Amino acid sequence: MKLILLGPPGAGKGTQAKMLIQRYGVPQISTGDILRGAVKEGSPMGLKAKSFMDAGGLVPDEVVVGIVEERLQKPDCDKGFILDGFPRTVPQADALAGTLSSLGKNLDAVISLEVDIEALVARLAGRRTCDSCGAGYHVAYEPPAVDGVCDKCGGKLIQRDDDKEETIRKRMAVYNEQTSPLVDYYRNAGLLRTVDGMLPIDEVGVAILAQLKDFE
Ligand code: ADP
Ligand code: ADP
Ligand code: ZN
Repeated sequence: MKLILLGPPGAGKGTQAKMLIQRYGVPQISTGDILRGAVKEGSPMGLKAKSFMDAGGLVPDEVVVGIVEERLQKPDCDKGFILDGFPRTVPQADALAGTLSSLGKNLDAVISLEVDIEALVARLAGRRTCDSCGAGYHVAYEPPAVDGVCDKCGGKLIQRDDDKEETIRKRMAVYNEQTSPLVDYYRNAGLLRTVDGMLPIDEVGVAILAQLKDFE
């Protein structure tokens, strides 16, 4: 199962990736998670990425392409992988195609999650993430049992710095300009499968699995 989850910020890529990794036993490769990890560690890559992320812009292609290239070569990717948040530009998509072909791998499908813009802002503004285990929540749509506390590990739920209203708007504009062309890119490659991302979380999951039946 070699997949890309494509969609604007807040579309539900991370949420559905968590379901898919359980189901197929393949790793989730989230460039956002890897970059936030690097920022937290204070590594040189993290220091370089932080200013772009805080501003709601994209980290330079060569940085993220390098991350994914390295990650895809790890043995746990032999059975497949779920790319979440990568590629985000046409040059990234071209680089991915080159990397996969040199590894002798092919993408099975690109799942495009379609969500209205107004819904995205509400999703991002209410998004919370566990500081310890990374589990995702939403204050209204996917609330934890106890406010501010992770159901899975008891960790503290935090709001991402870039999930503030002003940065959200900037990220949407960046998506429209730089990432949305990938919908046609993958449609032309014959890989695109669209899914209605406005449905409740479980129903989006069912719709994705229905699209993937041929690859199991
Ligand atoms: P979201 O899930 O809200 O779409 P991510 O967690 O995927 O956000 O990404 C957070 C930030 O990390 C992005 O706004 C961007 O600055 C950076 N980032 C993540 N993936 C990429 C990528 N493929 N290319 C460039 N920047 C990226
Ligand atoms: P992305 O990774 O695409 O940026 P997330 O998976 O982090 O998006 O989802 C953004 C927020 O919206 C999270 O708080 C999540 O709980 C919530 N969410 C995800 N999918 C849905 C859905 N289908 N309906 C309502 N809320 C959702
Ligand atoms: Zn947790």
